[in-house]
Amino acid sequence: MNQHARVTVTLTEAVAATKNARSDFQPDVHNHIPGSVLRGAVAAIWIRQLGPEITTTPEFARIFDGEGTFGPLHTLGSQPIPLSVQVHKYEPERTCQKLWWDAALGEIAEDCPDCRYPLEFSKGQSRGSVDFTTRIMTALSTDGVAKDGHLFRQKALRQDQRMHGWLYGEAVAALKLNDTPITSVLLGSRRSLRGSATVELEHDAVPEPVECIGNDIILRLASPGVFVDDFGLPSQVPNLIELTHVLGVKAINVDQHWTRWDEVGGWHAASGLPKPAERAVAAGSTYRVRCAEQPSETALRALMARGVGLRRREGFGALFRPEAPRAVRSWTGSVAPLRQRPQLLPAFRNRLDGLRRGTTDDAVFRRALENMRNAPDTYVQAFRTMLDITDADLYEKLLDFLEQG
Ligand SMILES: [Zn+2]
Repeated sequence: MNQHARVTVTLTEAVAATKNARSDFQPDVHNHIPGSVLRGAVAAIWIRQLGPEITTTPEFARIFDGEGTFGPLHTLGSQPIPLSVQVHKYEPERTCQKLWWDAALGEIAEDCPDCRYPLEFSKGQSRGSVDFTTRIMTALSTDGVAKDGHLFRQKALRQDQRMHGWLYGEAVAALKLNDTPITSVLLGSRRSLRGSATVELEHDAVPEPVECIGNDIILRLASPGVFVDDFGLPSQVPNLIELTHVLGVKAINVDQHWTRWDEVGGWHAASGLPKPAERAVAAGSTYRVRCAEQPSETALRALMARGVGLRRREGFGALFRPEAPRAVRSWTGSVAPLRQRPQLLPAFRNRLDGLRRGTTDDAVFRRALENMRNAPDTYVQAFRTMLDITDADLYEKLLDFLEQG
């Protein structure tokens, strides 16, 4: 079995995974499914099917409390913008050619050369829109009875969306119980909205390699990271000994870093009490690390699925490799021929929701493409270009452009 596997969940009901809630009434909701939520949901299935004694076995400890990784599950839109990236302070114009300036790649600017508006560093906000819905919930009293008049609105991830992440190491074995794959889980937080989701595991999926420039690697966190220095004190940067071990070459120094402190808690299942808050660096934190020589591609791919730092089994320290979003301007020319048949634009508009949720079914479009023998090449190309775009926000802007005629 591979050391890693790609997980895809499709929400069949709305799900709310709440952050360290300070109040029962307005908990803040994650825009993705944290690794801890996936891990808790799968462990609950083991306990339900095999009884609570299973938690005392070495097998359970290895899979759920070991050195494995349960990475967070994201859509493209829910991924954080790396903290090393400068973005437009205001909404960019359609004429702007560039949307990200990445200091980790040596790109720095004061303002956008096209619109002349100022830029600002990312605070780790999500790169695109996330599909939320709102549910009315009833507050429960301590004995589980609905309290009169205590209705509150719960923001939740809308159903029918698909999210992806990685399992690594012993955690890969979590989704198989008595040789039968686990195919559905109940996700969410105990004090908010739980919902069902189907889950698929791809054992032959290959993670992208961590970015590497010469002997430097660039680490970007998709979730908060928990790091300690050689004395066990909280640190803003990953541990070089750990990196050296995973990369197989000496990690010499963190030459540059773009980080923010964050606080993370958790839920201790056995005692039913919240865990004490711990210092962590925020999702989106970025590091440029100098190595003695270039790590192998295999090591860079393994590091991507494994992540860095402590508490990786709870989804901390997950890595990702975002591509800078392409500006609308670089696409308008190639999709403009679609204006020749404006009657088809509503069909493209209908595709937007599915694209945002990662659940598009393009069979009808692909068939239409095959039957387009008499259409001009530029039109066919434009049609294909629209179907190939995976960034829902860019797709929407291009639709706006096309519909404005
Ligand atoms: Zn601009």
